[in-house]
Formats: sequence, structure tokens, C-alpha cells
Amino acid sequence: MSLAEQALSYVRAISPYQPGKPITELAREMGLPVDKILKLASNENPLGMSPKAKKAVEAAIAGIERYPDQFDLIAKVAACTGVGQNQVVLGNGSNDVLDLIARVFLAPGRSAVFSQHAFAVYPLATLATGAELICTPAKHYGHDLEAMRAAIRPNTRIVWIANPNNPTGNFLPYPEIRAFLEVVPREVVVVLDEAYNEYLPPAERVDTADWIKDFPNLVVTRTFSKIYGLAGLRVGYALASAEVADLMNRVRQPFNVNNLAIAAAVAALDDHLFVADSYELNRRGMAQIVAGLKRLGLEHIPSHGNFVTFKAGDGAAVNQKLLQQGVIVRPIGGYGLPEWLRVTIGSEPENARFLDALEKAL
Ligand SMILES: *Cc1c(COP(=O)(O)O)cnc(C)c1O
Repeated sequence: MSLAEQALSYVRAISPYQPGKPITELAREMGLPVDKILKLASNENPLGMSPKAKKAVEAAIAGIERYPDQFDLIAKVAACTGVGQNQVVLGNGSNDVLDLIARVFLAPGRSAVFSQHAFAVYPLATLATGAELICTPAKHYGHDLEAMRAAIRPNTRIVWIANPNNPTGNFLPYPEIRAFLEVVPREVVVVLDEAYNEYLPPAERVDTADWIKDFPNLVVTRTFSKIYGLAGLRVGYALASAEVADLMNRVRQPFNVNNLAIAAAVAALDDHLFVADSYELNRRGMAQIVAGLKRLGLEHIPSHGNFVTFKAGDGAAVNQKLLQQGVIVRPIGGYGLPEWLRVTIGSEPENARFLDALEKAL
């Protein structure tokens, strides 16, 4: 008798998440110093963290013996997004709030709908509850909302949508999402994951948090891991109706976000200059990488995030040749895209090094 046989069958059926290869791991494998390795595999901010956030972290070390108080960050997020404080749920990364939503609404005998090539955490969060996963075919590598609506069954309780989507970078126009919310049954929660929201041109952004009052079944999630550069601290949040937020808070660990993360996130929300610089660097870097991919004759999926997915042919082989040159990108065979690789937009010299390594790898 093995212990695995005693485990929940739906837990045993989960395939583990495959993170971007850590710099330290490749350094060990290749016998290279860490500072010779370029990681463009996890959509991290090439500018690092906001200097204001860094100062706040340093100051917060003084209170580290105390349990965290979420009040300041909840108040700040509520003020920045225009929702009530009772509508904000903080997470240990937005991954945490995605899990909380799943735990509130899913169980064996229920189902959730997501799209082919959508973010890997949706199947993980769904399957961990024992609920059934319904995957709809992608349209031009992105979400097909019509197919997703048609896939909803009487036992469906969550629809997962990433906008922009990772790893494909697709963007769904806001009117389409709004129209989708109009036709989805009100007992189905629509999770709109906006991890890359701040990389959209400000003029194109619509305040989806403002839709929650019309659609109490809408949950919007955002993160401090991407443009705010705080991936290692783990902090994100959900905006929901007061009723849904209250339910999520019941299954949330009381101290799920640590002191340093709270202090950093509060300060990061005030560092508008850092966000503007990060946005601008990404805009220029995206143009640089897209031009380079075109020069190499490689197809790419137009991206609205801080990364771009391109067709490398044999993705695994090209990835291996990039690793040999100390460059880490993200193979996405696990997303059903084995011919493609996803690269995060870096700084100008980092992008140049990546393109040079890619040319050699092809
Ligand atoms: C990176 C990412 C997140 C954020 O994850 P965190 O747990 O906040 O670090 C969420 N959704 C998508 C689609 C992402 O790509």
C-alpha cells in the first residue's frame, strides 16, 4: 500500500506547475557565475523594484516580530481602484486569491471553464478542489468568449479569463467582456485576471473594477509581481462584491501577506514615476524584440503584456541552445504550444543579447 493511493484522486491527477528556470539552477548546471545568466522567463520587471518600495521594505524590517496588519494596503488599494474597503481581498501573490475564489465556489460535482492556452494556474486552482475542468478551444491563440459561454453547464461556478492572457499576450476588447458578463448566468463567477493591466496603454484601459456594481459575479484580480517588480515578495489582490469578498476572506489565512510585502505594495502604489518608467521601457523593448524576431523571419503573437511568444520551430531544441548560452526563456509545450517560446521583455542590452543568442540558436 502506498500513501499516494490514499491521496485524493483529483490531487494525484494534477500535473505540477512548471516555473521559469531559476538563474541559480542554470548557474549550477552550467558551472556559470549567476551574473553571466540572463533570465527572461517569468515576466519579471527588468528595472527591479521601485526605490520607494525598497525604502519601505527596509523600514518595515524594524517591525518584523509583529503579525501583519493589512489595513493600510487594503485602504490604499480601495482608494486607487475606487471600490469599498470591504471589496478588497489581499493575496500572497494574485495566485493566492485565485485559489481562494476556487475554494469558495468549486468542489467535486462542480465545474469551471477556461480557455486553451490560458494561464496554468486556472487548471491548478480548479483541479485542487476536485471540480471538473472544461477547456474551450482558443481563437487566434486567445479566449473565444462565445465558445466559453456555450461551454457553461448547470454545475459551472467559475469562468477564468486572463486579459491580457499569459502566455499568448492576447487582449480581449472591453466591450466583448462586458457583453459576455451580460449573458453569463449570475450564479457563475467570472474571474477577470488583469495581471498585465498596467502594461496596457493608459488611453486604452477601462476601469473594470467599476463594473462590479453592475455584475456582482465579477471578480477582478491584479498583482504587484509584474509592473511593480515585487514578484519575490508575493502580493496581489482581488476586487469583488462585498458578499464575495467576505466569503473569500473566510477561507483566507489570516496573515497571508507578510509585513514586508504590505509595506512595499503600499509604497509601490505611490511610485508613479517607477510605473511610468517601467511601462516606457517595456514599450520600447517590445518594439526592439518584435523587430528582431521579424528580422529573423519568426512569427510572433502580438502581445499586450511584458512578454512576447514567438514560433521557434522545435521549441525545446531552441530553448536548449539558448540555455547553453546562459539565456533563460520559457518553453510553453505545457500550454499546448511546443513550437513556441515566450520571452519576457528586458532592458535594451538584455533584449539585444537575447536576439543575438536566438540567432545563434536557430
Ligand atoms: C504572473 C501572472 C499572475 C501573477 O501571479 P502572482 O501570484 O501575483 O505572482 C497572475 N495571472 C497571470 C495571467 C499571470 O501571468
